[in-house]
Amino acid sequence: LFITFEGGDGAGKTTQAALLEQWVRTRGRNVVRTREPGGTEVGLRIRDIVLHHRGHIDPRAEALLYAADRAHHIATHVRPAVARGDVVIQDRYLDSSVAYQGAGRVLDADDVRALSLWATDGLLPDLTVLLDLDPADARRRLDADDKPFDRLEAEKEEFHARVRDGFLALASAEPERFLVLDARAAPDELAAQVQDAVTARLR
Ligand code: C5P
Ligand code: MG
Repeated sequence: LFITFEGGDGAGKTTQAALLEQWVRTRGRNVVRTREPGGTEVGLRIRDIVLHHRGHIDPRAEALLYAADRAHHIATHVRPAVARGDVVIQDRYLDSSVAYQGAGRVLDADDVRALSLWATDGLLPDLTVLLDLDPADARRRLDADDKPFDRLEAEKEEFHARVRDGFLALASAEPERFLVLDARAAPDELAAQVQDAVTARLR
């Protein structure tokens, strides 16, 4: 089973992925929790490049770097785990590329999606949880925790608004794969809704 968490910075993806990991373990299943960009050693180097040069890389070059990270991560880490029957819980996947490199950088969404599918030989998640949050709320939330909303403040407000709309458009195009949650809800309420969706797919 392959489960991904998507959404903007500060939406609570990491928190929900950790809560789901604990819960799946109590059900006696092996869990691999991972993330993109940077889920492998090679990927960490790519992560350094894309984050360090954020806002200054040609958009197509940036999309290719994310795709390279993803190709290596899926081939060496995720596919083998799914094949073993483990539950893979992943922070960000191809929908992040369609939202950030597509809607955010204004590349063609179908091109970005096709690039990711080529990179991963067509692997789609069984379930994608979209934690939807207004970027202004996300910023307030991260400010309160003294965490950066946008590490380098490289992107303007409109960029993050386009990313959010990009995620919502993806979810409405594939309602079977997506569970869209209002990220303003309490973490345990969100976790319960995620567990229901996962229970239905564990059977
Ligand atoms: O989720 P995480 O903090 O690891 O993401 C790192 C940063 O990279 C985030 O600020 C996110 O906005 C950005 N990102 C991106 N394009 C992607 C994935 C992440 O711009 N495809
Ligand atoms: Mg996170």
